Parts: sequence; structure tokens; C-alpha cells
Amino acid sequence: MKLIRTVPELREIVADARRRGARIGLVPTMGAFHAGHVSLMQAARATCDVVIVSLFVNPTQFNEPADLARYPRDEARDAAMARDAGVDVLFAPAVQDVYPADLSTTVDVGGVTESLEGEARGPAHFRGVSTVVCKLLNMAQPHVVVVGQKDAQQALLIRRMVRDLDMPVTVVIAPTVREPDGLAMSSRNVLLAPEDRTRAAGIFRALDAVRAALGQGERDMAAAMARGTAILRAAAITPEYFAAVNAQSLQPVVTFDGETLVAFAGRFGAVRLIDNVIVTPTEQRA
Ligand code: AMP
Repeated sequence: MKLIRTVPELREIVADARRRGARIGLVPTMGAFHAGHVSLMQAARATCDVVIVSLFVNPTQFNEPADLARYPRDEARDAAMARDAGVDVLFAPAVQDVYPADLSTTVDVGGVTESLEGEARGPAHFRGVSTVVCKLLNMAQPHVVVVGQKDAQQALLIRRMVRDLDMPVTVVIAPTVREPDGLAMSSRNVLLAPEDRTRAAGIFRALDAVRAALGQGERDMAAAMARGTAILRAAAITPEYFAAVNAQSLQPVVTFDGETLVAFAGRFGAVRLIDNVIVTPTEQRA
């Protein structure tokens, strides 16, 4: 595995791969790897000849300076994990190379960024995400980009940006990898106090309870969500949002009759966690 820090070096590798007709896969990350990141690398490995993982803690998407300051970083460990996952190139650029002082272009994706995370974290968050992902796609010129369902709105945003800007890349959305107790793997989990880590398992129990209610035939979304809310309350979890929305448009769902995203965000001490499940009506009830 090659560790690359500059765009010209990356371009050389990409140009060579493209000359050979190799299929290039990109997995954008902010490092502090866990099994969720590894599953994305493996998904890219399964369908691509050259797998590039970018490791860049993108400052422009952090709306809280303290969150950026304490974001876990361990490049040596990440490099070892990426190598073990069969990654070909770890691209870890410096902030000043990604953002020259006179950078004056940003990307704003409308429609899927205003609600949920966009509302909670402000418009700069998703502007930071779309701008850096656009730049990474231009730097790595992949055929495939693999992202996680864990960040559902981010995945939708990337799909929308790629479609709207005619970017020649296929977006693959990989399922969320969870701890044995259901907690979605996240780089921020290591920052949780032990009692918060235990309590945080209630997030998935709540999401799963909504899914179970809908699976049992409940169509009134408020009734299904009430099951989840009860579980959150019992675990002493106060959500920032706990919402059921159309999985494509992100419009609120009143009656369950299509693919629905049930999304959670909440704070555990200083650590903010998000999670979601997608629920689809089954054939029998259609
Ligand atoms: P991050 O390093 O947190 O920016 O995440 C990099 C990529 O990994 C994003 O596409 C995330 O959606 C994805 N990801 C994060 N956590 C998980 C998880 N538990 N399972 C699957 N993918 C994940």
C-alpha cells in the first residue's frame, strides 16, 4: 500500500491506472478506522482493481471547534488497517493542500440538506461535505465511490451532487456495521464515557422497535415512532431529533406506505451520535 500526500502524486497513480483500463474505487473517510470503514474498503476491493482510501479530517464540515479538536486521529493505526483490508493507496493530504488560502469555490446541494443534520448543524456542515467530496472525486477520478448508510443524508447528498453535476462515478451505499449490542460503529464512540456507551445501545433498540412495529403492520407513523420514543425515554436518551421521513425526499412520513428513513441524533455528554434504519413496506401489506 502506498501512502500519498499530494494531489500530483495521486494523479500519477490514477493516470497510470486509467491507462491500464483499471477500475478505480474511492472510499472517502476522516480516519480513526473501525469495522464500518473496513467494510467500505472491502466493498470497493470486491469490485475495483485499484482501491484508494482518502483520510482527511475535513475542517469545513465541523460546526463545533471542540468536536474538530478532539476528533480521534491515529494515522499509523489507520494505515495498518487499510493495508490489511487490501487498500492500494492511502491518500492523506494536508489541510493547506486541500484548502489553499484563496479557495473561492464551494458546492451547495439543495433539497436533501436543509432538514435533520442540516437543520441541527447549520448549512456550513453539508457545504463542507459536498465541497470536499467533489474535490476528492476530482482528485481521485474513481469509477466507484463507496459511502456508508450510517450517514444517510450525506449519502443522499453525494448521489444528488453526482447526478446534478453529471459526475462520471457510480455511488455505492454500504450497510451500517454495528457493535454486538446494536450501536452503530463510529469514530466518536471511543470518546463516550462508559455509562454513556452503555446507554447509547438504546438508540438502535429504539430504531429497531419502530422497524418492528412497521413490520407488524402498523401504518400510523406516529404510533410506530411512539414505540421508539418510549425506549429512548427508558434509556434516559433525549434526542436532538428522532424522525421518520421519506428515504429519498426526506419529507415527513405520516402514513407508512413507502421506503422510510427513521433517523436519530442525540448527545451523550459532549459526544453527538447519529444513526438510522431504512424500512420498506413488505409485499404482503402492499
Ligand atoms: P467518517 O470517517 O466517519 O467520515 O466515515 C467515512 C465513511 O464511512 C462514510 O461514508 C460513513 O458513512 C462510513 N461509515 C461510518 N460509520 C459506519 C458504519 N458503522 N458502518 C458503515 N459505514 C460507516
